[in-house]
Amino acid sequence: MESALQERETPLQEARILGVRVHRVSMMEALQRIEQLIQRREPSLVITADANAVLIALEDAEFHRLMETAPLVTADGAGLLWAGRQLKQPFPERVSGVDLVEQLTRLSHEKGYRLYFLGAAPGVAERAAQNLLIKYPNAQIVGVQHGYFSATDEPAIVAQIAAVRPDVLLVGMGMPRQEKWAWAHRNALDTPVMIGVGGSFDVYAGVVKRAPRWMQRTGCEWLWRLVQDPRKIKKVRNLPRFAWQVWRARKQESPQA
Ligand code: UDP
Repeated sequence: MESALQERETPLQEARILGVRVHRVSMMEALQRIEQLIQRREPSLVITADANAVLIALEDAEFHRLMETAPLVTADGAGLLWAGRQLKQPFPERVSGVDLVEQLTRLSHEKGYRLYFLGAAPGVAERAAQNLLIKYPNAQIVGVQHGYFSATDEPAIVAQIAAVRPDVLLVGMGMPRQEKWAWAHRNALDTPVMIGVGGSFDVYAGVVKRAPRWMQRTGCEWLWRLVQDPRKIKKVRNLPRFAWQVWRARKQESPQA
């Protein structure tokens, strides 16, 4: 018990990207922390942050606060990994929402954790669950709900989630709405871990295809996503602004560089 408590308190290494906090963790460390949070059973938020998340935090005080206080903020995306290297606070690897969904389904298959999928268009989270269950048949996906509900339906949805007592609520409703929504309803949801996973259900449902491995490895996944969904141009347009700010921050830190 004591060793478990000590382990719980081990602080994670942090990077400051343009002043915004992101943990420098591997996928394995992230999963360990999530399991600790499940044991702790206090509502906790996990954020999978990309470059856009940092830009949002710089303009949105509420989201910035969530990034400052969340017990786990992972680096999701080539832009953030690049920034970590530039600012001499490298991340060990990318820990994306998409990969976390699969890894947590695997852990659920192995250890019985109860998962709830919330978000994406009607039918998509169901299909994602069905596809993941083919690979992890003993996973406990205890509920699914699409992410296009009205404010009137909200109390019933929150109650329905709480009633099935998930250990982990995966929320795919886009950033920063998914994080704000989960945190605002944390007491009624009474779920130990809430994770924003963006468009992950679309990937497992087969609605969008994940970029080929070589594109993920070379940091070009954003280009693949843009081709699949041109509405993502808004996010891609922000990348040069992010890169410019990181470059300036690097110059300020080491003027001779
Ligand atoms: N979405 C939703 N409800 C909404 C708006 C969006 O459930 O009101 C879903 C959308 O269908 C998609 C996900 O939220 O599955 C957003 O995906 P995206 O890749 O844009 O996530 P982000 O990168 O913004 O976190």
